[in-house]
Formats: sequence, C-alpha cells, structure tokens
Amino acid sequence: MPVLVQKYGGSSVANTERLRRVAARVVAARREGFDVVVVVSAQGDTTDDLIQKARELAPNPPRREMDMLLATGEQASIALLAIAIDALGEPVVSLTGAQGGIYTDNLYSKAKITRVSCDRIRRELAAGKIVIVAGFQGITVEQGSSDYDITTLGRGGSDTTAVALAAALQAQTCEIYTDVTGVFTADPRLVPAARKIPVISYGEMLEMASLGAVVLQPRAVELAAVWSVPIHVRSSFSDEPGTMVRELNAMGNQPVTTGCAGVVGSPEGVLSAGAEREMVVTGVTHDANVAKVVVVDVPDRPGVAARIFGALAKQRINVDMIVQTTKEKQETDLLFTVCRDDLARAGEVVRQVAHELGAREVLEDESVAKVSIVGAGMMMNPGVAAMMFETLAEQGINIQVISTSEIKVSCLVEASQVAQAVRSLHRRFLEEAGESPARTGGSVTVATQGT
Ligand code: ASP
Ligand code: MG
Repeated sequence: MPVLVQKYGGSSVANTERLRRVAARVVAARREGFDVVVVVSAQGDTTDDLIQKARELAPNPPRREMDMLLATGEQASIALLAIAIDALGEPVVSLTGAQGGIYTDNLYSKAKITRVSCDRIRRELAAGKIVIVAGFQGITVEQGSSDYDITTLGRGGSDTTAVALAAALQAQTCEIYTDVTGVFTADPRLVPAARKIPVISYGEMLEMASLGAVVLQPRAVELAAVWSVPIHVRSSFSDEPGTMVRELNAMGNQPVTTGCAGVVGSPEGVLSAGAEREMVVTGVTHDANVAKVVVVDVPDRPGVAARIFGALAKQRINVDMIVQTTKEKQETDLLFTVCRDDLARAGEVVRQVAHELGAREVLEDESVAKVSIVGAGMMMNPGVAAMMFETLAEQGINIQVISTSEIKVSCLVEASQVAQAVRSLHRRFLEEAGESPARTGGSVTVATQGT
C-alpha cells in the first residue's frame, strides 16, 4: 500500500472539535487505501505556554529540561488524536518520537536527526494500524551514548519530523496541514490581491521560508529537497488543493523523475508541458523580526570582520545581511542584521569586540524590516533588481541594505514602510507584469500558529 504522511500543525488540533475533524480526515485517507502515518504538533499555543511557565521560574532554563518539558505538548496531542480515531472504529496507535525511531544528536532545543529507524512504524502499519507520531521530538541514542534523553528539533520542528518520516518510508506525499490554504504570492493580510501558488520549487520555497514565510520550517524544505519528498501544503479546514512543493526545472516544469516513491500525481492542469515560465517573480515576502547593528568607525584592516563575526558565531548568533561602507579615512562602518530576539545578545558581544578593536560606537536599531522578491525566473531575466529598487523609490522608500542570491533580492527598509513596500512590489511584479503564467511560485509571510 502506498504510504501517506500527514502533518497537522498546532492550530489544526487546537481543540476537541478540531481533533475530531482531523481524525475524520485521517480515517478517510486510510479508507482510500493508504498506509497513513500522522505527525502532530502540540495543541494551539501549548509550546509557547510551556516556555512561558519555565521562564517564570528562570530566565534561561537548562536546555535539557526545556526539551523534557516541551515534548509533553506533542505527547498529549498524539494520545488525543489516537483516542479520536479509535472512537471512529479504526485501528490506531500513537508513538513518541523515540518509539517512532527519530534518533538525534544531543544538541538540546535544536537537535539534528541523525537516523530514522522505521521498523516499529512499519510493523504497526503492517498490522493494519494508522500510526500517529509525535512531531518535534527525538531521542539520543547515537554517538556512543545510550542516555535516551528526549530532545526537540527547534521551533516548528514537526515539519521536519514529517518530512524525515516521509523520506524514510518513501511516502507518496508529505501533506502539511495548516490553517491557510497554501503558499501565497504575498501575505494575504497585507495584499488582498495575493494568490495561492499551485506549485513551487524547493529552491524557491526554501528562500521564501527563510525570508519570512512561516508556513514551512526551512529545514524541512531542505530535507525534502535532498530526499525529493513532494510536499503538499494545505488547509485542514477545507478540501481545496493547496500548494505543491517539489522539484521543478528552470522552465518551471516538473522533471520526469520526481517523488520519493517516483509516483506523484501532476497538479491539476497547472503545468502545461513545455510552457515556459512567464513569471519572473513568484512571490514577495517580508520579515519584521529583524534588527540592525552598526559598528561605527572600525579600523579598516584585515581580520576585523573575522573578529566580529567570529565572536557572533561563537555565541551561535546568526547574521543575515552584511555591508561594509568605505570611507576616505582609515575607518569603516560595518552594518549587519540579526534576528530581533538576538539583538540584545549580539549588541553585547559586538560591543566587547568593538571596544578591543578601537571602534567608535555600536548602534542598535529595531525599526527595520526586510522585504524580498523571490523567483527562479530571475536567473534568466536581468533588470529585476533594478525594477525592485525603482518601485521602492517611487514610493519614497529608502533602502538601507541590499542582499541578493540567484533567485532572490532582499532590501532592508524602515519597519513602518514594509507593508507599503510589499504591496507596491506585489502590484509591480505579480499584478501588472505578464499575467497568466504557466505556473507561479512564491509565498509569503503567512503567519500561522499552526506550523
Ligand atoms: N510545537 C512545536 C512548536 O510550537 C513544534 C511545532 O509546532 O512544529 O514549535
Ligand atoms: Mg506549533
């Protein structure tokens, strides 16, 4: 029987009524003839609430104990869903991450999966059961240790659990159920004209997810790309098809071989064979969770950047955009962005190093946001970046920092102007530009609790 992996986010299992609805959906898939493996997140805001509780006791709780605590959220969900499915008369079993064979390293709170061992899951499937696995959690048994410590995979980690299981079980598809109907060309709350993207490549989805679209954990997209797991992002509240994330060639078409089991249904009439993509930009994303740090008048000599960013790396602080301005003098300004939650720590680390280097001062600024355009079509179409800058200039929006990759251009702008930036860019690239593309990609900062 073909295996189908379904993952339900926290919002999809938030209460009894929703759990019943999910149970019915799971049972329907089973009765359609699939071996069904279901991954669930903690209900609603459970994870946030647990974090809050811990922080009331200590500002910086031990990571091992945090994992022990947070894993309970998913454990409640699997049992509740299994009870709901059992009530519908279908054989079912719930498994923790450990029982499901999700083995990880011991980097508590952001553990990496080192091995997936599906024997138990396969046995349960062979016995005719629906298998429910707790997302987000794993267990340490590798690396010479057999401590059986519970670990978690980082926020939004249930997506990664689902994709890892789909890869290991050679599932036909990994369905990610959330509270939005798919991946959109921009955040529909900001841009009413935003459209659902029927199909998007792993590369574009990865950029989107990393640039602020929270429908999928970037790590899960990466894993899916490596193992060619087709992902279907869809809503647990409707039956309409969502967004397919899969391998696409440069023309935006599906290559001949795809799918981790080599069997993938083509998305209903979305791709016309040989049709070239007319759409250069597939989506506009934005991210408000950014902050800017400027090291003013740092000596312009070799090794300075290495010192500053080395110190940040040591503290495991991720740096995103970086610019260095050239001045006439012997000094330069170094500007970079970090995640807003990391700003305080980044400031602290950099101030220390800046002092040693003899820089004049370190400025912190939270009133910034990042807006990006993403699209594989950019590779073949020069002038896209220029058009982006022109559009922002017309709106009187100042660009503070620019960064690019082959398939995206990001600009750091004043936070208060980011909505206007997203709207104008969506209008320029997705409403006015060549319409009715063979396919459109792109996504959004679709904020959802249900990751
Ligand atoms: N419950 C975890 C979180 O909220 C994992 C997940 O939802 O995927 O981050
Ligand atoms: Mg969650």
